[in-house]
Amino acid sequence: MASDTDTTKTETVYCHNCGEQIDAAAELCPHCGVRQRPPPSAVDDKRLVAALLAILLGSFGAHKFYLGRTKVGILYLLFFWTGLPGLVGIVEGALYLSKSREEFEAKYAERDR
Ligand SMILES: [Zn+2]
Repeated sequence: MASDTDTTKTETVYCHNCGEQIDAAAELCPHCGVRQRPPPSAVDDKRLVAALLAILLGSFGAHKFYLGRTKVGILYLLFFWTGLPGLVGIVEGALYLSKSREEFEAKYAERDR
């Protein structure tokens, strides 16, 4: 719609459902019709939940697990006794909240690999 993202290169990704190659910007797979990205409201929810987890349970890396960063989450768990992850979590929670929905989605959501 009115969002003009200046991505000149056309990246392709593989559909989560059927595995067909589709445009990375496609919201729905043209082959099977499965949604590739969560709708904006869901992303906003995710951002809020991640921020809350980071602030309240940051010591245990809860927000990392929530965002699918399991390895980083385990690191938080290993070092939670130092108190550092708790501090980092609060900072990260504030960062999540300071970001726009688009920024958050681009940076933290849907990054499998
Ligand atoms: Zn598909």
